[in-house]
Amino acid sequence: MIVFFVLVRRKGTWEETFFVGIGTMLGTWFPDWDLGFGIGFHRNPFFHSAFFPFLAWLWYRRANSRWIGPILAGFALGVSSHLFWDTIHYGDVRWIPGASNDRIFLLINAIVGAGIAWWIRRSYTKFGREKTMPPLPD
Ligand SMILES: [Zn+2]
Repeated sequence: MIVFFVLVRRKGTWEETFFVGIGTMLGTWFPDWDLGFGIGFHRNPFFHSAFFPFLAWLWYRRANSRWIGPILAGFALGVSSHLFWDTIHYGDVRWIPGASNDRIFLLINAIVGAGIAWWIRRSYTKFGREKTMPPLPD
């Protein structure tokens, strides 16, 4: 949450803050949607990793909307903070043996997720809020 405020406070318009907030709430909640596949699927490495923030980043590079950047930056940040808290609370990740390996996995992914959030945030700030990222070559 501290990171969230640091990111948002930098000359953010209220609009932008609002969309980053929505993204963050979605993101913190998102990894536990794996419960929808049953408790046996909980904390599987796809949902509890930087995998979806990475997909968000790929999507962002192709998206063409003013508010998608703040939402996706917030989403990556929210997922990252969820993973960070799971690291502290000894979250057990499926299919990864050993408690300390799980925590290393969660921590690394939390850092990668925060990096993705930072990258998205930086790219649309730097280019004057309008997304001007060149699209990926097809
Ligand atoms: Zn979790």
